[in-house]
Amino acid sequence: MSPQPPTVDPDRACRHPDFDAVVSVTRVLSDAPADTPVDPDTMPIAYVAEVQVKCAGCGEPFRFAGCIAGLSYAEPRVSVDEATLHAPIRPASADPDFGLGLPGFAARATYTRE
Ligand SMILES: [Zn+2]
Repeated sequence: MSPQPPTVDPDRACRHPDFDAVVSVTRVLSDAPADTPVDPDTMPIAYVAEVQVKCAGCGEPFRFAGCIAGLSYAEPRVSVDEATLHAPIRPASADPDFGLGLPGFAARATYTRE
């Protein structure tokens, strides 16, 4: 999905009365390098829900606050633009440590004055 520019009109502020949300779930089949063949019938080793929310009226995307940018299988993270929440999920019947131990990453911005 390619990012779409906001259609916000600063002269007519939208009250954001309704929302559209897109939720997709990724099944992680392997932590092997991307070029390694994986049997699609393999049981997933993790799942990640990705959530995006935008105003149905004006199309302005909403940002998820309070999460570090990156990807983790242990806690929610957001995309660098904060518009996509990446939340690790597990089947209700799975052990609480399901999906833990897989590699992830975090991005932090630092600002310096020169
Ligand atoms: Zn709106």
